[in-house]
Amino acid sequence: MSDKPEKFIDENGLRLDGRQVDEMRPMKMELGVISRADGSCYLEWGKNKVMAAVYGPRELHPRRMQKADSVLIRYRYNMAAFSVEDRIRPGPNRRSIEISKVSREAFEPVVLTHLYPGAVIDVFAEVLQADAGTRTAAINAASMALADAGIPMKGLVAACAVGKVDGQLVLDLNKAEDNFGDADFPMTFTQDGEVSLVQMDGNFTQEEFKQAVEMCKEGCQKILGMQQEALRNKFAGELSTDEVDVELIEEDVVEAESDDVDEGAAEPEEVDEDVEESQDDVEDHSMIKADEPEFEEDEPEDEPESEEDEPEEETA
Ligand code: UDP
Repeated sequence: MSDKPEKFIDENGLRLDGRQVDEMRPMKMELGVISRADGSCYLEWGKNKVMAAVYGPRELHPRRMQKADSVLIRYRYNMAAFSVEDRIRPGPNRRSIEISKVSREAFEPVVLTHLYPGAVIDVFAEVLQADAGTRTAAINAASMALADAGIPMKGLVAACAVGKVDGQLVLDLNKAEDNFGDADFPMTFTQDGEVSLVQMDGNFTQEEFKQAVEMCKEGCQKILGMQQEALRNKFAGELSTDEVDVELIEEDVVEAESDDVDEGAAEPEEVDEDVEESQDDVEDHSMIKADEPEFEEDEPEDEPESEEDEPEEETA
């Protein structure tokens, strides 16, 4: 790890990477990059590179884990072993389990979970290259992958973080600010302006806290605008490419955030098919959840149906 810089903000008010204090790193996203997934998104945010893939809704096995009145959302955040300077030991750790849990919860207010009782939606967020802000990058990518999969949602979710360096609040921390700064405050906002995730590392005064929330909100509104634009480009076929460059669309953000709230939502008709097709893959994509037991290989003895049986009831 490099040493702590003497100053994070120069006499012109610019950060180490040349950004203003309220400026985000460039973001680029591409939808539908994994053909075997129901929805996917590759997202670059500064030097972060994240891939999100969504599978489902599909029937959940073992059946005892099914929720009678809603779909189960599983979210796995994972950093590839090669994603950081020092190789990360593969497999879940406390950090990734915590991030997976809070990220899943960030989507709970928007996904129309009651439409798919007994089913599961698996969200995989794989960090390929990490450079601070990977949990927020992963949530932004996952939000797009869910929309790409046609999961019915009230709206999208956007995430960004505010930190504090040299006594000043800064939006979207870079690596040095994240490692050596005085605070790291990631948040998510839904399109309705609801906060669905807040984490905090470090200290803010009461005034700084209020200001940080406003900065995060503005950052998330910009991201929501970019996400909507990327979805419009894909589904309206306006451009020949799915790539959306932040700089190109930032001017449109204000307009975009006020309309097209439903761009990400889609019709639920295909669920029955998906559920039936996907029964066999469930174990290939088993997820880590902090508050629920992991899958067991075998069905319990009191479970009447085998996994090969057709589901008796429709799940949607
Ligand atoms: N990081 C690392 N090894 C780890 C975890 C994190 O090198 O095991 C780096 C990585 O670049 C990450 C940054 O530290 O983006 C900040 O990590 P943090 O836990 O704050 O999460 P993030 O900001 O990525 O959401």
